Amino acid sequence: MQTPSLQDILGDYHQKFLQITVKDDAVTFNMPDEAALKQGQERTLPLAAICPPQVKTEDFFTTMKQVAGVIKEHLPELAEEVKQIESALPVAPSDREEFAARAFIPGENLLSHLKIDLSPETFGFLLNHTTRPYLRQYANNVKAIFDSETWMRGSCPVCGAKPVLALLEKESGKRYLYCGLCETKWRFYRLGCPHCASKESQFFTVEGMGKYRVYYCDKCLGYIKTVDGAKMGGKELMPFWEDINTVQLDILAMREGYFNQQVD
Ligand SMILES: [Zn+2]
Ligand SMILES: [Zn+2]
Repeated sequence: MQTPSLQDILGDYHQKFLQITVKDDAVTFNMPDEAALKQGQERTLPLAAICPPQVKTEDFFTTMKQVAGVIKEHLPELAEEVKQIESALPVAPSDREEFAARAFIPGENLLSHLKIDLSPETFGFLLNHTTRPYLRQYANNVKAIFDSETWMRGSCPVCGAKPVLALLEKESGKRYLYCGLCETKWRFYRLGCPHCASKESQFFTVEGMGKYRVYYCDKCLGYIKTVDGAKMGGKELMPFWEDINTVQLDILAMREGYFNQQVD
């Protein structure tokens, strides 16, 4: 029997995460008036900070339970920590409501609201996968109220997360970034590092993976995996799968001491 590759393993449990869906009307938001929207965008706030996604508290906890179930089944080494987190979740209805609302506020440290010491990595992993289906729907709902061509920042205009992938477009020569959480695509400068203000970055390629470049920055040690649009063969980019299929590039970049600052 062949040993499953890292991609197979990742693909397998990510497939399970993708099967966790939310109702079509699971997310609402209050439409900001034009002045509030303009002011927020001038302060470079992501939309989730201007007009936060609103979800039903118990929907949120149901999703979290499903995500916890997938983690416990597929990543047994995290099972104990996940159980600890679950038993530390708020119980009183008002605390639960506040917790679910704060989960969507960019930069919020939710862990500090829980009483006991928990693994921040495992907590972040559980929380990211819980908020993801809601943020995807939210991103779709707010699409019409921002301009993805003019944002030009290294973090997501919708949810504020760092990008997981970049795409160099073939014909236009433009570069786009993709959010790993809400899957928004937005334009960024052609050159320079999306993680810091540096205008310089270099890249490496790997034999047999000519479709990809890994851009890295020696100023902040950030990196970003990049798809060369000229080598896509006219196919639509599927950021979620591209990210999983290029996990070797993450391993190589991290071995060299670079970081993918996916989430602030
Ligand atoms: Zn996002
Ligand atoms: Zn940098």
